[in-house]
Amino acid sequence: MAKEKNAPRRKRQLDVEDYVKGVLENNRAVLAQTITLVESNAQKHFHLAQKVIGELLPYTGNSIRIGITGVPGVGKSTLIEAFGTYLCELGHKVAVLAVDPSSQISKGSILGDKTRMEKLGRHKNAFVRPTPAGGTLGGVARKSRETMLVCEAAGYDVIIVETVGVGQSETTVRSMVDLFLVLMLTGAGDELQGMKKGILEIADVIFINKADGNNKLKALATKEEFNQILHFLQPATKGWQTKAYTCSALNGEGIDEMWNVVGKYVEHTKNSNLFHERRKEQLFLWLHDTVQSQLLTNFYEHPKIRQSLPEYKQDIEKGMITVTIAAQKLLNEFNISMK
Ligand code: GDP
Repeated sequence: MAKEKNAPRRKRQLDVEDYVKGVLENNRAVLAQTITLVESNAQKHFHLAQKVIGELLPYTGNSIRIGITGVPGVGKSTLIEAFGTYLCELGHKVAVLAVDPSSQISKGSILGDKTRMEKLGRHKNAFVRPTPAGGTLGGVARKSRETMLVCEAAGYDVIIVETVGVGQSETTVRSMVDLFLVLMLTGAGDELQGMKKGILEIADVIFINKADGNNKLKALATKEEFNQILHFLQPATKGWQTKAYTCSALNGEGIDEMWNVVGKYVEHTKNSNLFHERRKEQLFLWLHDTVQSQLLTNFYEHPKIRQSLPEYKQDIEKGMITVTIAAQKLLNEFNISMK
């Protein structure tokens, strides 16, 4: 008997019903396992995950999805910890996810390398999911979108999606959330003249973080500077004036205002039906992106294309063929082989 007791117990493979039941009961272990399943690249997991998500679908959508971005060091994890804890104390259930594009470039991650939001992660109302490892931005985005659905089915009513201001990731996160919040620092005014201006065009709210101590006055001045510029920009969301505010993730100042602004934004977008319209558009975009990326994968991985592409490239380099004709010939080959 004793021997049997000590023998290693084989973990039973969960089936669709186990996953669905566990998620709906907000069993954290099952929730984490379901997300691992969703994030898996294995073919057999893919089909199982799709079945589970399909079953969960009627229970999704009842959350506010907030994207938060900012350069490394701006205070994202400190802010999310403070904001998330504040919301949990109010009785909300908060899930924190991350879209980390750096994994493609450096094979490491900017967001995931350190232990983040430990305190929030221990709160009974919070669920902090570390960054999914590797993969293309498109792949990571799919996983995050589906993870978001799983968390909603588990009853989380505020979903925070964090990302770093690198490359395309901000646009990707914008396309999966209801509200996009950008964290900035003082002295960022110069940046506005350059590349960073693009980010203001997709922001719904801007918070100048680290508005504390000696930095407070400067932060207030930066806020004014931002507000002047924002006044002349096309708003990211129709009828909603994007404004800048200040906060301190460290001492908690401005955190309640942040939630207040989110509330006003949700009220505005729900009243004008923009909330639902945007979600619908996001679903269609997701569908379109999925089809597009699968078509491209099929194209480039097709044996015929793999063989001809380098040859056409050489011909293009030598000036023997125009790019358009080469593209046409490649596409023809693909069509023929599809028959
Ligand atoms: P992230 O890289 O954007 O996630 O930034 P972190 O949250 O890791 O913060 C970077 C550094 O800024 C840490 O040393 C934080 O303690 C500090 N920090 C974050 N928020 C504030 C703030 O509101 N005020 C001050 N003074 N420091 C902050």
